[in-house]
Amino acid sequence: MRLRHCFRRHFASYTKVDDSAFQGISFKLSETQKEFQLLARKFARDEMIPRAAEFDRTMAFPHEIFTKAWELGLVNVHVPEKYGGLGLGALDGVIIGEELAYGCSGMTAAIEVNNVAAAPLLLAGTDAQCAKYLGRLVEAPRPASYCVTEAGAGSDVAATLTSAVKKGNSWVLNGSKMWITNGGFADWYFVLAKTDPSASAGSAFTGFIVDGDSPGITRGRKEINMGQRCSDTRGITFEDVVVPEENVLGAPGYGFKIAMQAFDRTRPPVAIGAVGLARRALDEARKYALERKTMGQPIAFHQSITFMLADMATHIEAARLLTHKAAYEVDCGRKNTMYASMAKRFAGDTVYQVTADAVQIFGGAGFNTEYPVEKLMRDAKIYQIYEGTSQIQRLLIGKEVLSRPTMEP
Ligand SMILES: Cc1cc2nc3c(=O)[nH]c(=O)nc-3n(C[C@H](O)[C@H](O)[C@H](O)COP(=O)(O)OP(=O)(O)OC[C@H]3O[C@@H](n4cnc5c(N)ncnc54)[C@H](O)[C@@H]3O)c2cc1C
Repeated sequence: MRLRHCFRRHFASYTKVDDSAFQGISFKLSETQKEFQLLARKFARDEMIPRAAEFDRTMAFPHEIFTKAWELGLVNVHVPEKYGGLGLGALDGVIIGEELAYGCSGMTAAIEVNNVAAAPLLLAGTDAQCAKYLGRLVEAPRPASYCVTEAGAGSDVAATLTSAVKKGNSWVLNGSKMWITNGGFADWYFVLAKTDPSASAGSAFTGFIVDGDSPGITRGRKEINMGQRCSDTRGITFEDVVVPEENVLGAPGYGFKIAMQAFDRTRPPVAIGAVGLARRALDEARKYALERKTMGQPIAFHQSITFMLADMATHIEAARLLTHKAAYEVDCGRKNTMYASMAKRFAGDTVYQVTADAVQIFGGAGFNTEYPVEKLMRDAKIYQIYEGTSQIQRLLIGKEVLSRPTMEP
């Protein structure tokens, strides 16, 4: 708690980057960013890594880890100071996120999804909405959820069927969401619902903040996924759930835009999760390759293995740079859709390849649960799927490329 308090003071005036202050490119982290990086790295090493295999096996939600991370100020990092948070920028967030995902990307999903849920409020919430709902996240270790996907509407968000109908001073929500991270424990949900069936996607939907204990909400069973198994993913059903008018985000009809703009902010943190996980796989593979000997020498010095390690390292470095750029653009207040998609696509595809290569370097041991890399490979796959699949990112990047006369930097 003390640390949290200390960092809150430390970051009292730490918000946006003023890029006019820079002369040229700097990859230098500020002293406070380095402090946060070390804090998250230590937390990953001391708290996450020792328990990652156990949580993978039991698939239990990591309440204790979430709480400890919250006490250190590593959860809800973007909540502005006026609502009781640290008010960290996007780049600060990804620096922390890489270290956490190095420890365990499943536990990190539980932590990061609070930022995903908060993003629509940071974009479009009123002062009262932010004070109430972001305030609740910093007041106690409470998970929150971003509730958009449905069984028939994943990549195709416009196919969302969950509806909201205005009745007096309230809205009544009906429908079922699917694959909702933190769904079983969320204190509140950001929910996208159709409010004007006759309108086009751009104005047919509205975003709502829905209290988790609202009558009519059913939290489905925990889904048993391939990886990130301690992360809690569920279907959430809304049956005649009454939401007060003051919980409409922005205005009726703005939900689709809010949900899409939120992705620009939340894709860099997801991309950096892939970077952290890939870096862990590389470290495990390098260590093993130096220990394991065949034909009279460590396998690291067989050229095909050396080259594999070299490619893994190169791709990780490139993914990190792209992600930092995407986050930096947010901090500069510029539209970063293309960079966010590039980062998410490249980091997602990188972590998939890097973890598969790590398993390959371990040989038979890589296929076994006694060694860490099979879990890393299972955990990696989701980075090509959630927060927009690699295919959807390419669609978005392509659209951006075609809308510009040139790609001059
Ligand atoms: C573990 C997990 C956690 C998740 N957490 C959340 C959450 O917290 N909140 C939330 O709202 N959602 C969440 N999701 C949902 C996730 O974002 C979607 O699963 C994802 O966007 C893909 O949607 P889909 O599963 O419906 O696949 P589909 O949209 O059915 O896609 C199937 C395949 O078709 C491809 N495809 C689809 N359309 C196109 C196209 N136009 N062009 C080219 N290829 C295309 C896709 O890339 C994919 O390969 C989560 C999912 C999982 C598995």
